[in-house]
Amino acid sequence: MKYQSTRNRALTASPAEAVLAGIAPDGGLFMPEAIPSMDWQALLQEDTLTMSARILSALLPDYPDMDALVYRGYAGKFETEELTPVVPVGGRYVLELFRGPTSAFKDVALSLLPLLISEARDILGVKDEMLILTATSGDTGKAALEGFHDVPGTKIIVFYPHGGVSAVQQAQMVTQEGGNVKVCAVRGNFDDTQTGVKKIFAACVEKELAGVRLSSANSINIGRLAPQIVYYFKAYADLVRCGRIQIGEPVHFCVPTGNFGDILAGYFAKRMGLPVGKLICASNRNDVLTEFLSTGVYDKRRTFYKTTSPSMDILVSSNLERLLSLLTGDDAYVAGLMKQLNEQGHYKVSDELLKKLKAEFSCGCCDDAAAAETIGRLWAEENYLCDPHTAVAWNVAEQFGKICSGGAPVVVLSTASPYKFPAAVLSALGQKAGEDEFAVMEELHARTGVPVPKNLAALREKPVRHKDVIGREDMLAYVLEKAGEAEW
Ligand SMILES: *Cc1c(COP(=O)(O)O)cnc(C)c1O
Repeated sequence: MKYQSTRNRALTASPAEAVLAGIAPDGGLFMPEAIPSMDWQALLQEDTLTMSARILSALLPDYPDMDALVYRGYAGKFETEELTPVVPVGGRYVLELFRGPTSAFKDVALSLLPLLISEARDILGVKDEMLILTATSGDTGKAALEGFHDVPGTKIIVFYPHGGVSAVQQAQMVTQEGGNVKVCAVRGNFDDTQTGVKKIFAACVEKELAGVRLSSANSINIGRLAPQIVYYFKAYADLVRCGRIQIGEPVHFCVPTGNFGDILAGYFAKRMGLPVGKLICASNRNDVLTEFLSTGVYDKRRTFYKTTSPSMDILVSSNLERLLSLLTGDDAYVAGLMKQLNEQGHYKVSDELLKKLKAEFSCGCCDDAAAAETIGRLWAEENYLCDPHTAVAWNVAEQFGKICSGGAPVVVLSTASPYKFPAAVLSALGQKAGEDEFAVMEELHARTGVPVPKNLAALREKPVRHKDVIGREDMLAYVLEKAGEAEW
């Protein structure tokens, strides 16, 4: 199986090469030339790890021992052996993706991606050490650190905006252990940090780094998308097992969306055979995708809002490009749209493509006030405590319920523990949240009795290991200096 750039099918890579490179050389994203079809009914009988190994082997067939990789990536690291439990709540189902080592859904992919990169290095006989550079607005940084620490042949540097992440998120990162990790605050906002990382990649194409190859843990890597397909199969299998559906009946999934990776994995599952009904794309006040899926116009020229669901505060949703590629099969058309987006800030798809999009996807959005109201109501009525990202999805699932009746179950994907955003959750319950986030965490626990994930509860006691703070113009120098040091 070959991978091809979304912008030029003639640019190909083996699966291992696609994982190692992250992004295609023309700026496109790597896609398999065809989505493998699976014996999905047989798959439903398997446990989560076996399901994961089967699906990953189908997408990355040049990896020799996927079972071993999957076991090493996941075993013993999540709160439950099934990794991603399904919980019935108020007539719907919540698929909890946050039971991993950093309490965010990013863990599902980032527990495995480092091993996929390290293995790709072996498969391709690459001797260079991999240096992973990541800019984070909060969740990705910690999940990447947790996944990459002490993985042979890899080092990782995480940059985060100084004063731009929550206290819990910062504590998660600066206390990270491991001999191959660096965490550095950058004076600037997230955009400055991300732009800085992009500039480093561009600069290092010209400037050879001796014995070091740069890569990224960003969600455009196909090695991050592939592990996320699994939980759609797993959730479906759970609904069959509990008797809610018969095999073959459709299930709708409602997904809190930012970069479109999570929901796209659902579409991959559908193309691999799973009877997925609608994929419902939920956005916060940054509703660029709601507009796109309703009108076919993608327009990033709009106000950027900071919301209580920061991981969905995004105006350029990278993985959407993969969907356009899948639905049209036309690389020149996709390249043209992306060029237009870059140069003019907007594009409009053809009526034919919009019709195809609407056949597969539904959409909706809700603002912070509605998300808070949803958190409060879910707690009061169902005794279920959810985070603001999940609340957005729940609210949009309710909107969907009003337009689409019919008996198919709706699964709402839950992407973070409420304790990662304790202040927003506590105030949604009608309580005043103080300044100290750890005190707020305790108060939320005292009021609800919902257990605090161990990794978050332990944070306060952990020593700070990373104190570097640099200016945004110093990021390249920082990377060059660190790349030159043998021991970290
Ligand atoms: C990353 C993230 C999302 C968005 O996922 P995408 O794959 O980028 O669409 C939603 N919620 C949380 C908590 C996240 O960390």
